[in-house]
Amino acid sequence: MRVRELFNYFKPYGFEIPNWRIAEEYGLDPREIIRMDLNTSPYLPQKWLKNLESKIPTLKINQYPDATYRDLVEEISSYARVKAEKIIPTNGGDEAIDIIVKAFIDSGCEAILSSPTYDYFRVSVELQGGRVINIQRRENFADNVEAILSAINDRTRVIFLCSPNNPTGNTIQYNDVLNILDKALDIAVVIDEAYYEYCGKTFIELTETYDNLIIVRTLSKAFGLAGARVGYIVASREAAKLLNKVRPPNSLNLIAIELAKIALRDYETALKNVRKTIKERERVRELLSTIPKIKAYPSEANFILFQLLEGDTKLLHRKLMEKGIVIRYLDPSWLQSYLRVTISLPEHNNRFLKTLERILKEEM
Ligand code: PMP
Repeated sequence: MRVRELFNYFKPYGFEIPNWRIAEEYGLDPREIIRMDLNTSPYLPQKWLKNLESKIPTLKINQYPDATYRDLVEEISSYARVKAEKIIPTNGGDEAIDIIVKAFIDSGCEAILSSPTYDYFRVSVELQGGRVINIQRRENFADNVEAILSAINDRTRVIFLCSPNNPTGNTIQYNDVLNILDKALDIAVVIDEAYYEYCGKTFIELTETYDNLIIVRTLSKAFGLAGARVGYIVASREAAKLLNKVRPPNSLNLIAIELAKIALRDYETALKNVRKTIKERERVRELLSTIPKIKAYPSEANFILFQLLEGDTKLLHRKLMEKGIVIRYLDPSWLQSYLRVTISLPEHNNRFLKTLERILKEEM
């Protein structure tokens, strides 16, 4: 087959290993596996599902959804406190990224990434024929604003920022964002706020002042709806108009739309779960810090980045997996000897901490 030249160099997204495969490979009962590698919520929103169930019999599933997703936009509008015309619902945050990339990246154009960061930015840009320019974060993972700004050239189309950043957990400084926006007035600046609810700091209000600012959000994290695939873009009116020309038709399905509306109307429940996760996050970090050879970093998201100061990180990752605890092993070209753990229910967090401590003491 005559495939795209891209495949000579393109590294696909690292798809998450499914439970059934882990169970097969390590001889485990799938029910004993704890996923702490996906940055999803451990809380199943049963109340919302029950509510959805009562609505399902009358859903007009033989028709396409409203092309403007008006009802969902209204709910997002009141939750995010932003005007409806600035909102574009998407099939998860990933589709939001794809829509933005399609709107700005021509073949040979560049996107600047503050790395290490969420890998799907790279995937999306490269699939569109663009080139990624990685600007390494500072030692404390802060964005290197000077280097980002000096990487801008005629081919630059997008700057991707992420706050809180996956996988480092830190947020971007307000002044750094202003500095970038002021100096890159003709370049789209994207801030991925997928983990916004865990830090409470948003840059949405700046979309009133800066036409080049685009925010990406999702219901996959704080709202616990990763399986429903709903996200949204908030942008200036000008950018929203442009993105609306690019978005695919009907990428959200009626069932997910209904569920998202129910969830957004009851955002207090989501925020209650967020508060529980934040409390656990601080507890887990404190306990992680007491384990010898482990350095845990502060986080404003629902996960913690930690470093194994001595020993084989890949081996530690595998030994945890053998015991049914799945955490994230990070790309060693960026983060050698680092792992990322998603905050889960207290009993799961405790099992992770105890197992980690025991492996380090007895098996490594
Ligand atoms: N942005 C960031 C920073 C993420 O970590 C993720 C989830 N892995 C996403 C976007 C996309 O999530 P979703 O497509 O489920 O909304």
